[in-house]
Amino acid sequence: MRSIVRVLVIGLAMVAAAPAWATGGVHAVRYIMGTWCDLFIFDPDPDPEAAQAAFREIARLEDVLSSWDPASEVSRLNEGAGNGPQPVSADLGNIAEESAALCATTGGAFDATVAPLLAAWGFYTDSPSVPAAETLRDAASHVGCDRMTVGHDPQTIALAEGAALDFGGIGKGYAVDRALAILRTRGVTRAKVDFGSSSLGFLGSVDGGWPVVIADPRDRDEPLVSFRIAEGAVSTSSQRERSFERDGRRFGHIFDPRDGHPVESRLLSVTVIASSGSTADGLSTALFVLGTREGTRAVSRMTGVSAVFVEQGTDGRAVIRTAGKLAGLTRLSH
Ligand code: ADP
Ligand code: MG
Repeated sequence: MRSIVRVLVIGLAMVAAAPAWATGGVHAVRYIMGTWCDLFIFDPDPDPEAAQAAFREIARLEDVLSSWDPASEVSRLNEGAGNGPQPVSADLGNIAEESAALCATTGGAFDATVAPLLAAWGFYTDSPSVPAAETLRDAASHVGCDRMTVGHDPQTIALAEGAALDFGGIGKGYAVDRALAILRTRGVTRAKVDFGSSSLGFLGSVDGGWPVVIADPRDRDEPLVSFRIAEGAVSTSSQRERSFERDGRRFGHIFDPRDGHPVESRLLSVTVIASSGSTADGLSTALFVLGTREGTRAVSRMTGVSAVFVEQGTDGRAVIRTAGKLAGLTRLSH
C-alpha cells in the first residue's frame, strides 16, 4: 500500500512539473496502408474516440486506394479501363483530380498512370525483376497524363485501354489530411499523424514550430537533419523504401514515367514540406524523379513549398541541399 502511495505521489509530482499539453494526450499506433502509423493527440482531455475515428478513416481510404487489394475501388476501376467514364467515390475523384494537376505542373514527373510499369517490373509481387524489353515497351505505351480523364457532376474517371492507376505516391499524404480533418471535427486542436516518417502532418501549432527529423536513408536509425515547421505536412521519398539489386545496380519503386525505368541517381531522398499532406506526398515523388536541379527550379515556381534533397556525395557523405524557406535547419550527423 505504501509503495502504491509513493508511486502516486511521484506520478502527481511529474504531472505537475510537465508542460500543460503533456498532462494528457493520446499516442495510438496501428499498422495500416502497409506501414506503421503513429497518431499523437496533444490536447489534455481529448474525445476518447478521436484516435480510433481517425484510424477508421484511414482504413476506409485503404479500401479505396490500395493497389494490392483486388477488391479496392481503384482495382475495380482499373479493370474497367477502356470502357469509358466510370462513376467513382468523392475520395477517388478528389485524389485523381489532384494527381492530374500534379502531372501537369511537374511535366509528367508525377503520374498516377505508372501502374503498368510497376506491374512490368514486378513491384506488385514480393520479387520484383527487370522486365524483357518487349514487356517494358508495352507497359510504357500505356503511361501518360492523358490516359486518365476526370469528369464532374457526377464524378467519373475514364481510363484509356490498357491504362491503370496507382496512388502509392500520394495516398498516404491524402490519408494524413483526412485523418487530421476527422480529429478536427472531434474537437482536437493539436495533433500529429506520422506514417513511418514517410508522410506526416500536423494540426495546430506549438511554440517554435513542430520539430521534424530526416533520417539517413542508408541507415534509418541515423538522424541526418532537423528543422521546424509552423504547420502543414511533410513527406519523404526514397528508392530504398522498396528496391532490388541486379548486376550491381539498384532499382527502386519510384519510376521516371518519361522513360519507364526506376529513377537511378545520386539522390538518396527528397523531403517536401507543403500545406497539405497530399501535395507534400505527391511532390516528394515528383521531385525525386526531377532530381535536385530541376526539382529546385520547380519549387521556386511554387508558393508555400520547400524541399530538402539528400544526395550521396563522392566521399560517401550525405550532401544536403534545400529549396524554399526552412526554419532552423540543423545537420545532426556527419
Ligand atoms: P512511399 O511509398 O515510401 O511513401 P513515395 O511517396 O515516393 O514513397 O511513393 C512511391 C510510390 O509511388 C511507388 O511505390 C509507386 O506506387 C508510386 N510511383 C512510383 N513512381 C511514380 C511516379 N513517377 N508518379 C506517381 N507515382 C509513382
Ligand atoms: Mg510520395
